[in-house]
Amino acid sequence: MDQSKINALRAEPVATRTHIIGGEHVPASDGDLMDILSPIDGQVLTQTAKGTVADMEAAIGAARAAFEDKRWAGQPPAARKKVLMKWADLIEANALELAVLGVRDNGTEINMAIKAEPGSAAGTIRYYAEALDKIYGEIAATPSDILGMIHKEPVGVVGAIIPWNFPMMIGAWKLGPALAMGNSVVLKPSETASLSLMRMVELAHEAGLPDGVLNAVTGEGAVVGEAMGLSMDVDVLVFTGSGGTGRRLMEYAARSNMKRVYLELGGKSPNVIFADAPNLDEAAKVAAGGIFRNSGQVCVAGSRLLVEASIHDEFVAEVAKASSAMKVGDPLDLGTAIGAVNSEIQLKANLGFVETARAEGGDVVLGGSRILQETGGYYMEPTIVTGVTVDATLTQKEVFGPVLGVTAFESDEEAVRLANATVYGLAGAVWTSNLSRAHRMVREIKTGLMHVNTYGGADGTVPLGGVGQSGNGSDKSLHAIEKYINLKTAWIKL
Ligand code: NAD
Repeated sequence: MDQSKINALRAEPVATRTHIIGGEHVPASDGDLMDILSPIDGQVLTQTAKGTVADMEAAIGAARAAFEDKRWAGQPPAARKKVLMKWADLIEANALELAVLGVRDNGTEINMAIKAEPGSAAGTIRYYAEALDKIYGEIAATPSDILGMIHKEPVGVVGAIIPWNFPMMIGAWKLGPALAMGNSVVLKPSETASLSLMRMVELAHEAGLPDGVLNAVTGEGAVVGEAMGLSMDVDVLVFTGSGGTGRRLMEYAARSNMKRVYLELGGKSPNVIFADAPNLDEAAKVAAGGIFRNSGQVCVAGSRLLVEASIHDEFVAEVAKASSAMKVGDPLDLGTAIGAVNSEIQLKANLGFVETARAEGGDVVLGGSRILQETGGYYMEPTIVTGVTVDATLTQKEVFGPVLGVTAFESDEEAVRLANATVYGLAGAVWTSNLSRAHRMVREIKTGLMHVNTYGGADGTVPLGGVGQSGNGSDKSLHAIEKYINLKTAWIKL
């Protein structure tokens, strides 16, 4: 990557964005706009349409019409594959432009954004494009005078609600399998980070996706998101975001058409370090990266460090050293390791968690403060709190910021008990040279994803989903496809 190209792209003004409905750029029905602030400097970057209930209903109507006339699902699989492959190529061809645009409204450090955002989004769309003509029905083991066929059909209209961290990557986790299976989609990006995802939707149309198959409406969750959740014409709701919103979506489904609801929610993921870890220096560096990259705004962030008591002090000192070496600053500077927090509200919430941790007896051994305030942006030091008890807020509540809580343990049993002591179950890790212990921990720690002697980095071939209040269903891998199809049985008397 070339810093001068990044600098040229960041200097470009960002045009006001509209919704994309039925293949057209459409303003809000009442003409209203909302400001998009850049977390880099706190300045207004551009404005996007502030959607109304009528806008969401129009987008759902366009998606329904496209689904019913089969302009997409009715195309031969090879034709759909070609469009999706072209879309992936266009995303890749525009990767730097997309990544810089995304960083300008979400604050992720560019080194990470280029891989995790357009890079991963293109890979995901290609993966499902390649899969789409390899997924077909089954013939059941019926009596010989019966033909029992199981058809796999698209569900219809998919509503996809996306958070502000990694909008392109997470958007592609939903759009890839939904579109590959022939559904129509209405997308609702985050109000604070929609620009790169909306550009990605434009590229889908350039690739030849028929109008109305993919629609996107910007605006407030409580207005357009709620309208999507309550719609009688959305068949499946797929969501990544906070538990509070996830809970509302289930209520909306219950109050409307009982649509299927799949939730990818938050976590409080334990990173468990045993004294016999193969390389404690490496473990310390990875633990620091596992919580502090993207300012801790990563659903699978290893936000709870559980350390065997015999190495606690020395290991925490190593993590603090590795964390201090991560430069916080302008996310569009290639030398930056930790970019900006997405919004002022989120930054204040993060600082509030640090105050609560102190009040509850935690010891802030690194960071704890807002920095670089003179830039106008939202930056926070990597923060480490030791002495965090099992009941402490820092154990029980997701911060979604650069705050690591540390707790010591004495035995394998205590490590498992601490690891499982929250309502969440998204990710976790265990570091040990003992093979049996590693496998036991993988079995006993209740999460959807466990790492052994590493943290993060799982690719699109494996599912990502939570247990407990971290959600249901999985994104990524062929398993994600199940969310976007209906099984239909044909029982035929021969
Ligand atoms: P959020 O719940 O505030 O917002 C997510 C989306 O929901 C946004 O598009 C928002 O506009 C919309 N929304 C808000 N209120 C709504 C309502 N009443 N009805 C319908 N839609 C509504 O979450 P966020 O702060 O954007 O994202 C951070 C959260 O996402 C964290 O909890 C994080 O752990 C989680 N997350 C999970 C995963 C995963 O794969 N499990 C991945 C990334 C982020």
